[in-house]
Order: sequence, then structure tokens, then C-alpha cells
Amino acid sequence: MSSAPLVAVVGGGQLARMMAEPAAALGIPLRLLAEAEGVSAAQVIVDQLVGDHTDLADLRAVTAGAAVVTFDHEHVPTDHLRALAADGVAVRPGPDALVHAQDKGVMRERLGALGVPCPRNAIVATRADVEAFGLPCVLKTTRGGYDGKGVWFVRSADDLETVAEPLRVAAETGVRLLAEELVDFRRELSALVVRSPSGQAAAYPVVASTQVDGVCREVVAPAPDLDPDLATQAQQVALTIAGELDVTGVLAVELFETDDGRILVNELAMRPHNTGHWTQDGAVTSQFENHLRAVLDLPLGSPAAREPWTVMVNILGGPSDQVGRLYDGYPHAMARDPHLRVHLYGKDLRPGRKVGHVNAYGDDLDDCLERARHAAAWFRGDLGNESE
Ligand code: ADP
Repeated sequence: MSSAPLVAVVGGGQLARMMAEPAAALGIPLRLLAEAEGVSAAQVIVDQLVGDHTDLADLRAVTAGAAVVTFDHEHVPTDHLRALAADGVAVRPGPDALVHAQDKGVMRERLGALGVPCPRNAIVATRADVEAFGLPCVLKTTRGGYDGKGVWFVRSADDLETVAEPLRVAAETGVRLLAEELVDFRRELSALVVRSPSGQAAAYPVVASTQVDGVCREVVAPAPDLDPDLATQAQQVALTIAGELDVTGVLAVELFETDDGRILVNELAMRPHNTGHWTQDGAVTSQFENHLRAVLDLPLGSPAAREPWTVMVNILGGPSDQVGRLYDGYPHAMARDPHLRVHLYGKDLRPGRKVGHVNAYGDDLDDCLERARHAAAWFRGDLGNESE
């Protein structure tokens, strides 16, 4: 019997942790580079090193003997990825693809050249540039932003004061700032595809996501009442980007659906994504399994939905004066809804921190929404503490 290839995973967050589940089922060994002992993925992947993803020696140590290296996040420096590729490691996704998920300026330039619909945008360096671009607009740091951090809304001239600091930081650090038109969107959609090095690709149903303060709160699969032509267009845009950028593994394309029935690309993620967590319980093959299959260039599994509706709601830590529950929430959550699927990340509750999610699936959307929202609110501590 030949042995299964070793997959190195950089980053010990919940995405790496959730890769471990299909890896175990498929008998694929993972080796983790964790940022600290005991982090989310380090609790479940036994073969692990603690180290720094910006340190080439640590990256070489975790990839020694590995067939491929893949990622829990997009923060490994491009030069290090090139060095690993030169060492003969299969880096998936590769550095030339990944830079489009690392740098929003590079992403906008490339998508513009490909003719992919995006909000109007320009690189800005001064307050005068922002004014010339036109208000209202959104300013974004091209690198290092996440979960709404590094995004500033400039709705009127008064708000220009609030961007003085990011403009100063940009000038000092050389990290460029991007201005985008403020899109008046109906809702946010996500088109998630997976692509293998030999070019096989699969597209998941397009989903609707709800963001609160820049953080994903809820996902409905498929996006309710989405025009089928627009859904196809969104999938095609994602497949085009994956092909043109030579992405391997999961590509999530976050989109705005405008009031006048268009889609515009907001941003790209080249790893399993929060808007794909519903696939763990709602699709034939989860995004985590397909990510592993793709980076190993194995045939992909079906991305089809198993049920008419799946709703994913994130479990976030509540305010510091509110009692949240994790494991202690199980008796109620499980007794109330035997069909509910709970995924916790092994993280301590902290205000606003993503510590898990729930998936509820079925043939009635309102019922799925109620069940998933109730459970997430229960874990967060919004419910049931009245008499405590
Ligand atoms: P992050 O990298 O932090 O996820 P995003 O670029 O996704 O940043 O922006 C965070 C949120 O800000 C988006 O989910 C969306 O709600 C809002 N946003 C971003 N860009 C625009 C835009 N051009 N117009 C309107 N809203 C925007």
C-alpha cells in the first residue's frame, strides 16, 4: 500500500482545524505550523510545529517532506512562498495567485484588466486625491485589512478628517490606499469555487451573506430569490478569476448585488471561507474536503446542495458583561433541535470573537433561520440568562 501524501498547513486557526476533519476521513496526514501552542488547529492536528509564518526557516521546517503546502490565512510573505516553490514544494495556491488575495490594489488592477465588474476604484495618496475621486467613497488599506479593519467610509466632507490618519500611515509605511465608490448594494453574495492544478473546477451554489460591522454574521445557501442568470454570472465570474489567476484550492469571491440587478466583486479569499461553512452540512462535499482534494490534484467532489436550504450563523462572543456558553450550551441546543449541526473552534469566548458556527438545513427557510439564529444567540448568551 502506498502512503498518502503529507499536506503542510500554515496557520493554526479554525480553517486549518476544519480541514482536519475530512483529512482524517480520507486518511491524509496534515502537518501544522501553528503560531502558538494550543491554538484552534493545534488542538486537533497532532503533527505540529510552533513557529512564525514570516520566518522562512520555520516554513521550510513544516514543509520538509510534504507533498504540498496550503494555508489557513493569506499572510505568508510572497518572497517566502517563492523560496519554498524553488525548494521544490508545491505551494497551493501559488504566490502569483495569492498576491491577489493579499493586496486589494493588485486585485483591482488585475480584475479591471480581465473585464470583471468591480466598483469604480483608484489608488489614492492624499486628501486631495480622495476629493478628486469623489464622495461618498470607501477607503481601504490594500494590505493587512480583515473583518472590516482597514476600511473607512467617507460619506461626506466631514469624514475626510477621519482618513487623515490612514493617509499618514500609508505614506509612512508604503502600504497603498484604495478608494472605491460607495456601492448602494441590496445585499452581499459569495460565489465559492474550487480549482485543482490540472484545471478541474467546481462551483458551489451562490450564497447570501450578512455582515455586521464588517464581520460575517449569517449565510443563507442558496441566496434567496436570486435571479438564476445573475447566479450563473456570479459563478462564471468566480470560475474565470480562478482560471485566469491560476488559483488552486478554494476561491471565495465576495460580491455586491446592486439594486439595479448587477454584481460587482468586492474581494477575494484563496482558502476555505466563512461563507462556505454551510457546505460542511449542506453540500455533498464540504469546502474543506474539496480544498484538500484540489491542492492534492485529486478529482473534486460534488459541490451540490443536499437540502433546499442551509443557514449558517456564526457564534460570536457577546459583550463582556454577558454570560456566553460553549460546551455548557450543548444540552439546551441539542435537545431543542436534534437536526442542528454545531461547530466550535476550541477558542475562549471574548467579546466579538468568532468561536464557532451552527448550520441548520431543511426545506423551510424560515424554520432554518429561526433554528440557527436561536442556537447562535443561545451560545452567545443573548437568551436564557434572564434569571441568572
Ligand atoms: P475586509 O477585508 O475587512 O473583509 P471588505 O473589503 O470586505 O473588508 O469590506 C468590509 C465591508 O465593508 C464589506 O463587507 C461591505 O459591507 C463594506 N464595503 C466594502 N467595500 C464597499 C464598497 N465599495 N461600497 C459599499 N460598502 C463596502
